[in-house]
Amino acid sequence: MKQTKIRQHLHDYRTWLVVTVLVGLLAVWAGFFVWNSTQQLAADYLGMQLDDFRGEFNAAQRSHERFSQYVFDQVVNRPQILQAMAAAWEGESAQREYWRWHLYDRLLEDYEAMQEFHFRQLHFHFPNGDSFLRFHSPQQYGDNLFAVRESVRLANEEQRMVSGFEEGRIFNGYRFVYPLFYREEHVGSVEVSVSLAKVIADLHEIHPQRDAIVLLRRSVVETTVFPDAQVNYLESSLSDAYLVDREIFEMFWAADRRLEESREQRLIADLGRQVDHRLAAEESFAVHFDRDGVDHLVMFLSLRNIRQEHIGYLVTVSPDQTLPLYRQNARNGIWLLGVLYAAFAGISWFFARDKLRLRWQSSTDSLTGLWNRAGFLPLAEAELGRSQRYGNPVSLLLVDIDHFKRINDTYGHNIGDDVLREVAGVILANTRRQDLCVRWGGEEFLVFLPETNLDGAVQTAEKLREIVAETAFTHGAPVTISVGVSERLAQETELRSMVRRADLGLYEVKYTGRNGVRVGPVPLRATQS
Ligand code: GH3
Ligand code: MG
Ligand code: MG
Repeated sequence: MKQTKIRQHLHDYRTWLVVTVLVGLLAVWAGFFVWNSTQQLAADYLGMQLDDFRGEFNAAQRSHERFSQYVFDQVVNRPQILQAMAAAWEGESAQREYWRWHLYDRLLEDYEAMQEFHFRQLHFHFPNGDSFLRFHSPQQYGDNLFAVRESVRLANEEQRMVSGFEEGRIFNGYRFVYPLFYREEHVGSVEVSVSLAKVIADLHEIHPQRDAIVLLRRSVVETTVFPDAQVNYLESSLSDAYLVDREIFEMFWAADRRLEESREQRLIADLGRQVDHRLAAEESFAVHFDRDGVDHLVMFLSLRNIRQEHIGYLVTVSPDQTLPLYRQNARNGIWLLGVLYAAFAGISWFFARDKLRLRWQSSTDSLTGLWNRAGFLPLAEAELGRSQRYGNPVSLLLVDIDHFKRINDTYGHNIGDDVLREVAGVILANTRRQDLCVRWGGEEFLVFLPETNLDGAVQTAEKLREIVAETAFTHGAPVTISVGVSERLAQETELRSMVRRADLGLYEVKYTGRNGVRVGPVPLRATQS
């Protein structure tokens, strides 16, 4: 196929290609849009879950604060208790010893009742921060708490009630510290506290499917907790910077230690990679991940102490189907886009191809495969315009088979057709890519030669004539052609007049014996371009 034809072919095809690529880009953009908005939706969802969780956590804590106020009013803030505190504070160590056991005996029953409501600590301190009586460990006293317990320091120094989460020497917990006054004199403080485990157990009642772990910063545990109480913390494989609160861990994960530990290990190991840098940021966050083929929501709620310092994380893990659903929807949407796009491309190609085939058929000659007049004329028009604008030469050959009628008469019409095809083949094979070869009439061909002057055109005509004469045709007899040649004249803009002059040349060949080449006569006063 000649390149001009291919070019023409591609030109029609290009429209389809451009539209298809543009629609494809649009589809890709839409796909990105769908995916991005899903990611945004997922992030919003995680944020919302975290906010809800934080709200529930704060509410659980506040209910304990109210109850602790009741305990303080009913159990501690009574004249006999305050008087005993005052006497101990003013007394020598032997008297303190007496008052300590006095207080212990008096309040032990109440302390035990409080424990049934999961209040873990009842702890008296002096105004200078010295521990006076720990109900959970009455043998340990006299140590000063100001350096390690901000709540106790604030309650005594500022003489106000202080509450909040705090790491302790034995337990961490939610602490409610009340200053104590006897006859308007400050005699110390008392702490009522509830364990974090209790707050978490309350939350677990609301969301039974949520498992929890508490991570406390290793540095906090190591600097605050009594050495013999460090057994309350376990190493965490999630991060070296944190230790796991044993009590809470055992609440959720260690019904069967070996089995559950391996579960924790796996969870933690799976998570570790994606949360490392987020743990370092010490902010609350939520992530989503696949554990044992089930999608899970994991929330890390930053635990802050009374100084608002980050001291650890409350981590909850629960199965969650919402995010996978979002993602599945997005994937379905993108698939649908892809399918629609493929359908568009396929259907449009179907129509484009039909149109191309029609155009192809209407512009070429079905016998020889050369251009027909209809296909050729617009191309010649364009080429002539270019030639005139830039002053490039352009020529044409009019080729006619000699005594073709005899071939038909002698060998039959079918052989005649074969000869036409073979001559067309010779013409195609021996002209340049940019030349236009046309079946002009019955056994006449036109060869249009862009960028070719008269000399070049005559050479081409001679070459064609010789090759045809030397070609062994299938019907076994020689075939010759006659060729008329014309080059575009300076002012010539029409193909018709070029053809007419070539025709005159052709007529002259026929008249003088055929199998030859003649240039058509140039009218007087006209000059070649
Ligand atoms: P000359 O050398 O003077 O050109 O003689 P000629 O016989 O080639 O010229 P003429 O114009 O007398 O005859 C051309 C013949 O070509 C007449 C027509 O039947 C035949 N012809 C035209 N188209 C076709 C075709 O598609 N197939 C076949 N087999 N013959 C065709
Ligand atoms: Mg002829
Ligand atoms: Mg003829």
